[in-house]
Amino acid sequence: MPNWGRLRMAGPDCSPKNGGTRLFCLSGHLNRPGVYELPMGYNLKKMIYDVGGGIPNGRTLKAVVPGGSSCPILTASEIDVSMDFDSMMKAGSMLGSGGLVVVDDSTCMVKFALRIMKFYQHESCGWCIPCREGTDWLKKTLVRFHSGGGVKKDIDNIQYLSENMLGRTFCPLGDAAAMPTISIVKKFRKEFEDHLEGRPCPFEKAGAAELIMA
Ligand code: SF4
Repeated sequence: MPNWGRLRMAGPDCSPKNGGTRLFCLSGHLNRPGVYELPMGYNLKKMIYDVGGGIPNGRTLKAVVPGGSSCPILTASEIDVSMDFDSMMKAGSMLGSGGLVVVDDSTCMVKFALRIMKFYQHESCGWCIPCREGTDWLKKTLVRFHSGGGVKKDIDNIQYLSENMLGRTFCPLGDAAAMPTISIVKKFRKEFEDHLEGRPCPFEKAGAAELIMA
C-alpha cells in the first residue's frame, strides 16, 4: 500500500514491484525500534544500523527476520542486501510484510524457532493435516528439545517434517510455519547440537535477553 502513491506519480516506468516507499516495522534487539517509511530497495544493513540505531548493550547481530515471522531467517553475514521483493528472493528469503525482527547474539535460536512455532500452532485452524499435526508435533519437539530432552535424530526430523509441510496445505499458514523453521535449523544447526545430551540451554545459563516479537 505505501508505495502506490509514488508509483502513481512515477508513471508506468516505475517498477510495479520494487518502486516507491514502504513502511518497515523494525523490532527486536535495536536501539531505535519503530515503524519507518523508507524507499523500496533500502539496504538492510543500513536499515538496522543507521535507521534502527544498531544493537543495544554492546551486543552483536546474530540474525534477522526480514519480513515477518514466516520469512526464512538471514544471518548477520547475509544482511548487505536490498529490501525489495526480487533481491530478498535472491537472498533466499522474502520481503513479506516488512516486519523485521532483529536478533542479537544472546538469543537461543532453538527457543526462537519454538517461539515462532508456538504462534503458528496456536493459529492453525486444524483443517489440513500437515499444518494441524505438523505445527503441533514441531512445537512439542522443540519444547522437549529446548529443555534438554532432545536426541540427535530430532534435528533432522524437525527439518524433514517442516520440508514436508511446504506446499501441502490449503492456505499459506503451513508454509509460513515451515519456512522459518527450515532456515533456522539449516543456519544454526550447531546451536541445536549444543542442546543435546541433556545439556541445559547454553543461552539461558548466560541470561539471554528476552526477545519481544512484533
Ligand atoms: S494450512 Fe491453513 S487451512 Fe490448513 S490447517 Fe493450517 S491454517 Fe487451517
